[in-house]
Amino acid sequence: MSQETDTWVHVPEVFSARINGACVCGAVRWSYDAPFSSMLHCHCSICRKHHGTLFATFVAGTLDTFHWRAGTEKIATWQSSAQGRRSFCTVCGSKVPTVNLDARQVFMPAGALEGELGIRPQMHLFTGSRAAGHTIHDGLPQHEAYPPEWNSPGPPTAARPVRAGVTGGSCACGRMRFELEGLPFRMHHCHCGRCRHARGGAHGTNVIYKIEALRYTQGESLLADFDLPGARFFGTSFCRECGGAMPRRSTSRGAAVVPIGSLDSDPRIHPLGHQFVASKASWYDITDGVPQYPEAAA
Ligand SMILES: [Zn+2]
Ligand SMILES: [Zn+2]
Ligand SMILES: [Zn+2]
Repeated sequence: MSQETDTWVHVPEVFSARINGACVCGAVRWSYDAPFSSMLHCHCSICRKHHGTLFATFVAGTLDTFHWRAGTEKIATWQSSAQGRRSFCTVCGSKVPTVNLDARQVFMPAGALEGELGIRPQMHLFTGSRAAGHTIHDGLPQHEAYPPEWNSPGPPTAARPVRAGVTGGSCACGRMRFELEGLPFRMHHCHCGRCRHARGGAHGTNVIYKIEALRYTQGESLLADFDLPGARFFGTSFCRECGGAMPRRSTSRGAAVVPIGSLDSDPRIHPLGHQFVASKASWYDITDGVPQYPEAAA
């Protein structure tokens, strides 16, 4: 072995690329020049409700290379706690980046970004408030709340009591509440680009009930519906006040499509599978052993 080989040191190349992000309706667009500084999954109830997902995934980076490209006039911001703010597109309800001017930082919903990010999730936060029945299967570090060195209590829980005998849910701000009568007939994880952009997470997870099962018990006047032009079925429903993902009445299918994160009680159903894994996020590995379908699940 030559001296040269012995002393060779591998210097990792820094990933640099322009990364584009957009909401599902396309009104709000932005770009970020990588590298990112961190990436994490958050299981807190505010994130779950805002995104409608089992957990949310964010990437963070410096404001210096972040640019809004379109649609800032369509963005609404909800004050989720004394320090916390969440932004969403008022047309489609997709989550969009939150900018922290003081810290010169930007937090982006990872599912709304295109292509390779040059970073992978580093940890799970707030596993103490993770969704009912949800088990984490990957080997990433798990924190019940924020890691102690962050010295912050984090957001308060948004889980709300549910009447006995029904499955219940609410939006992130709590102005909207709903109940579901009886059991759902299907649940799946969806990795299609539309679900990733609309939810801003690794994938959407929807619980499907008969349309008659859904009843809004509070705040229905705040419900916003968005139908994606050109799509046969795709649409979103959300709270106008907070942007929280809400159940959607699909009259053409006679179904109520309930984002799992909106629920305050266990829907008591197992997922049928992961569908559209052919369009899965580059940074997400499926590790739960649930069946995978490249396109729509059977
Ligand atoms: Zn939009
Ligand atoms: Zn969170
Ligand atoms: Zn709300």
